[in-house]
Amino acid sequence: MTTAPPRPTTLDPEALRGDFAILETRIGDSPLVYLDSAATSQKPRAVIDAEVSFLTSANSAVHRGAHTLAAEATELFEDARAAVAGFVHAAPEQLVWTSGATAGINLIAYAIGNATLGRGGEPARRFALAPGDGLVVTEAEHHANLIPWQELAARTGAVLRHIPVRDDGTIDLEAAASVIGARTRVVAFPHVSNVLGIVNPVAELVALARAAGAITVLDACQSAPHLPLDLPALDVDLAVFSGHKMLGPNAIGGLYGRADVLEALPPFLTGGSMITTVTLDGAEYLPPPQRFEAGTQPVSQAIGLAAAVRYLDAVGMDAVHAHETALERRLRDGLRSIPGIRLLGDADAERVALAAFDVDGVHAHDVGQFLDARGIAVRVGHHCAQPLHRRFGLTASVRASAALYTTDAEIDEFLDAVSGVRGYFGVGR
Ligand code: PLP
Repeated sequence: MTTAPPRPTTLDPEALRGDFAILETRIGDSPLVYLDSAATSQKPRAVIDAEVSFLTSANSAVHRGAHTLAAEATELFEDARAAVAGFVHAAPEQLVWTSGATAGINLIAYAIGNATLGRGGEPARRFALAPGDGLVVTEAEHHANLIPWQELAARTGAVLRHIPVRDDGTIDLEAAASVIGARTRVVAFPHVSNVLGIVNPVAELVALARAAGAITVLDACQSAPHLPLDLPALDVDLAVFSGHKMLGPNAIGGLYGRADVLEALPPFLTGGSMITTVTLDGAEYLPPPQRFEAGTQPVSQAIGLAAAVRYLDAVGMDAVHAHETALERRLRDGLRSIPGIRLLGDADAERVALAAFDVDGVHAHDVGQFLDARGIAVRVGHHCAQPLHRRFGLTASVRASAALYTTDAEIDEFLDAVSGVRGYFGVGR
């Protein structure tokens, strides 16, 4: 009997940085300090190599053609599915490739819309909406987990409600218990908000949704790169994540679903590769995941994402989480100590290493330019979360976000620069 190797619990970011050539970049005279990983992460050499190697020696159409290269490409593609599914503790059939989280959420919303139109037969009736049925999101959504539900409500007559966020950034669970009611059919929420960084109470929200007979949709974009993620254990019905935020390529993402949910859900995109039999009058569809994968798939990207999760697994997600928790404290404590800084959602809660803030008297875009002139890359603007910014009385904020390759020294350099912002713009010390 073989025993699994112990999972690493610590990591050395300096040692990992050698795998990320881009981190050697200089911005003018300054070394790059990349604090924009929540927008998109950097990719280790292993991910770039995996894509190049596939394109160089195995590129071919998958699930089609009987030739050797097609068989090899199909095997690599399906191995990639197994690896990425395994990363979130799912079976391969529970992982649908998408082009990203936005595509995954739209897929779910359109599939529910199709069920409402009577598509998918008897099994899909459980998803069908009637006018007045409820769709629930939170006030802390990325637009990707808001607008598809607004559109679904507009198409079906369902009503979209939201769970408010408290001043400290936490989800108001008391309000959730009254917003989620007997007519609620879908509860969609972020595992971690891309603005607040707080890990949301998944178990409580799932329990409320279950009690109402609603399905749950988890946006795991900002948790998948930072925490050990066991989607079946979280007991959500559906979840999405994004490859480019978790060291993988662009234009690839995952849609996870409970087996019974995916089996009952009608397709959204239709066409080649998702059918068994087609006549001029109709078609029969493959079971999941292929039912949801019409057309040519992002094969090299899937293989790149598999390399990314293998890399994360080798580093160890417990180690990633521990390292980033320490970075988060350093970042938050440092920002709290700088006069004129207001952190958005400053609860003492479980978090990822991300902080959004307002600098009193200085526009976020000016802060971004000031930092960029020192080689520090942050995100400024509304971060695709306008309602949440409005909630905090802002139109824009500055967001710093770290990843496994971020060092203490980089956080310190960032804090040092931020402490000079108000003085530079003549609005404070
Ligand atoms: N949801 C959250 C919380 C995000 O942070 C993002 C990306 O910024 C998205 C969804 C959209 O992801 P994608 O770029 O894969 O469409």
